[in-house]
Amino acid sequence: MAGAGQKDRALRERAAAVIPGGMFGHQATGMLPDDYPQFFSRAKGAHLWDADGNRLLDFMCAYGPNLMGYGHETIDAAYIAQMQVGDTLTGPTEKIVELAEALTAMVTHADWAIFCKNGTDATTMALVTARAHTRRKTVIRARGAYHGAAPWCVPRPAGTIDTDRAHQILCDYNDIASLEAAVAEAGDDLAAIFAAPFRHDAFIDQAAPDPAYARRCRELCDQTGALLVVDEVRAGLRLTTDCSWSLIGVQPDLSSWGKCLANGHPLSVLLGNDKSRKAASAIYVTGSFWYQAAPMAAALETLKIARETPYLAHLDALGTRLREGLEARASAAGFGLRCTGPVQMPLFLFDDDPDLRKGFCWSSQMLARGVYVHPWHNMFLCTAMTEADIDMALDAAEQSFAVLKREGPTLEPVAKMAFLVASGQR
Ligand code: PMP
Repeated sequence: MAGAGQKDRALRERAAAVIPGGMFGHQATGMLPDDYPQFFSRAKGAHLWDADGNRLLDFMCAYGPNLMGYGHETIDAAYIAQMQVGDTLTGPTEKIVELAEALTAMVTHADWAIFCKNGTDATTMALVTARAHTRRKTVIRARGAYHGAAPWCVPRPAGTIDTDRAHQILCDYNDIASLEAAVAEAGDDLAAIFAAPFRHDAFIDQAAPDPAYARRCRELCDQTGALLVVDEVRAGLRLTTDCSWSLIGVQPDLSSWGKCLANGHPLSVLLGNDKSRKAASAIYVTGSFWYQAAPMAAALETLKIARETPYLAHLDALGTRLREGLEARASAAGFGLRCTGPVQMPLFLFDDDPDLRKGFCWSSQMLARGVYVHPWHNMFLCTAMTEADIDMALDAAEQSFAVLKREGPTLEPVAKMAFLVASGQR
């Protein structure tokens, strides 16, 4: 049986003494069911093992970075080979040029690349590039959309000050009227419109981008001279190898990428078009580890696999099998389960579950059966998953629905979620 075991509990106790709050950011399990493990020991392919040795089919994929499977042989071989000849050096290696060439060849709107480490580096660099390009201040972004943990965009404001978030206007994703109102409010000061490739906010149903909304973002940027930024950090390489909005015929000026770019090795990138090249040359952006060659070697290998294999079709087939199977099992058990978002990045939310207690109980039953799902954040599929893995998850789902039906949801998650409800995040 999976679930937080002895070793996990002991590590949590030690962590509580030396790590603020026991753990930080999204890796704190405070907002997951109590039996979810906090610590892991290893991973391979589609599976990870918690600190107590429980093997879990992992539908979080490290919150995205695992695209081609944990410990992928050729990607990791490329990483290790580069590590052995040179990684963090006084300057970059030829890998940086090769990778910039590969990305600009792959992504339609991109003419240049600046590499960094985290998604937040790339989104923040997009903000700075747009302000440098336009010499204006105001940025429009969608309410509830996550763009990282820097003071300008972090969802929890502790430690930030009002001016960190100054010159930003929030609109509603897919709502053209609210977008137009935000642009009107920005007047002649609009530097950028930020957009997620689709709505993938936590706690609420995901939504495909309305092509009319995407086109309006483009038009308004063209009319005002602002730059359009698509934040691909989470979705990049899972829907297409191009920028996701190319699927609906809209090209941004800038796109931020990270997570699975190097299949788990630390690398992110800001891509931009020629229009924004001068601004991108003028800004000062850097980091001690931003030129590391080994993650770039891993990214080159990841992109090669992406170019040369039908991995997208595989993800699509697995995701469709999962969605259809889950919907059928949920409705057979009498539950309304909303499976939203692209099938490769699904989110499952129960009907009539405002405090997520059904979701928490069902997820914890899944965990007990060796399947790691998330009750309120979108999940990710990886190419190492097989039809047999999906079928195993579906069996676990059927049993978990049965337990939920028989026993009803316990009260446990309510307290955890209460503060979110109270703070208006749900
Ligand atoms: N943008 C989006 C859409 C994200 O999902 C994330 C991370 N979840 C970020 C930006 C920030 O990336 P990172 O955590 O690597 O800084």
